[in-house]
Amino acid sequence: MDLYEYQARDLFRRHGVPVLPGIIATTPEEARAAAQDLLDGGAGLLVVKAQVKTGGRGKAGGVKLARSAEEAAERAAAILGMSIKGHTVRSVLISEGADIAEEYYFAILLDRAERGYLAMCSREGGMDIEALAAERPEALARVPIDPLAGLTAEAARRIVAAAGFEPGRTADGVAAVIERLWEALVTEDATLVEVNPLVLADDGRIIALDGKVTLDDNARFRHRDHEGLADASSVDPLEARAKEAGLNYVRLSGEVGVLGNGAGLVMSTLDIVAGAGERHGGMRPANFLDLGGGSSARAMADALSIVASDAQVQAILVNVFGGITSCDTVAEGIVAAMGALTGPAKPIVVRLDGNSAELGRRILHQADLPGVTIVETMEGAADAVTAIAEQVARGALEGRRVPSLPVPPTAAPTPQEA
Ligand code: GDP
Ligand code: MN
Repeated sequence: MDLYEYQARDLFRRHGVPVLPGIIATTPEEARAAAQDLLDGGAGLLVVKAQVKTGGRGKAGGVKLARSAEEAAERAAAILGMSIKGHTVRSVLISEGADIAEEYYFAILLDRAERGYLAMCSREGGMDIEALAAERPEALARVPIDPLAGLTAEAARRIVAAAGFEPGRTADGVAAVIERLWEALVTEDATLVEVNPLVLADDGRIIALDGKVTLDDNARFRHRDHEGLADASSVDPLEARAKEAGLNYVRLSGEVGVLGNGAGLVMSTLDIVAGAGERHGGMRPANFLDLGGGSSARAMADALSIVASDAQVQAILVNVFGGITSCDTVAEGIVAAMGALTGPAKPIVVRLDGNSAELGRRILHQADLPGVTIVETMEGAADAVTAIAEQVARGALEGRRVPSLPVPPTAAPTPQEA
């Protein structure tokens, strides 16, 4: 989960990373009041900053300086409602501003390929870091961090030296902040902390003016206090429903709904569907959905309903390898799920293999469900489902109705922000 800048700054503050005080506002009136509070607290300069989970806000006009409460309200009015790279600005951070002497860049990220962390530091912050990395890679120091040893004081000194800081007060200040950022990353189970710009203020302080943090969702169970950080508006409604139902679901952008049991099987199903889709109008997988080990009728009903609710989905592939849960149970789940659902229809292709596959197929044949095709092999099933999806997609374009799997009428997904 990515955090908003104001959330990242709160998190930094808790770990001793210097940040300036700020107050979140959703209307120009709130912005005015927030600005007045900060001015009363001694702020000389204010910054009004769009809160969207994308970079380049400054360039897009989403970061503006202000010197009075009135001016802050005007800036907020201009920024609220703005669209930045497709993200609508719903709140602004009214922050005390810094008088900037120099702008630096610092980040720590999880480097999966190297099974470690990578610290990146540059004396040339503030600008687009991808551009800097591409055009002048020597200006961006990259220092691998051993996850077991951690980012020690010694490593922090090495990082600032590699970035070209001369020994002295500023280098020491930056190194100290780097150590605090490492502590924040480890304690909060983040996979990324990025500060651009990390600034040297006119008064000599080192301050994190911006913050980007990605938390590791797999560690969420360790962090009760992170629960309030997720905002409903940016969570995919189908992913939210799946989470509620205890299913592992990731929405992708294709046309073929995919569900199966076991992460490995579902992953390879995605590959096979993508491959088959190349022969059938470029149909691609619409999602990853792992029913899990249980694959109860209930899970099947929830899963089918969620996958079918994706408006992009033209056809669905159910690929189950019977193990502890045998294929007859899965087949009964499908029959029950189809009976429980109502609404417009989507075709499904079912491939059952493993424990009691024969019996499972027989149950499906006997149920004679409309729009359900049974295919014995994985390749055959992928070929069939992409061919059907292509047909349906064409039909949909021509305004024809196609028979099959019913979906709940209320389940139309809302447009996405993230
Ligand atoms: P981003 O464009 O989304 O990365 O947003 P930032 O928070 O990094 O702000 C963009 C730019 O606005 C920074 O690089 C600064 O040049 C400027 N800026 C942000 N905060 C301040 C501040 O407190 N004082 C001053 N003078 N400039 C600021
Ligand atoms: Mn920035």
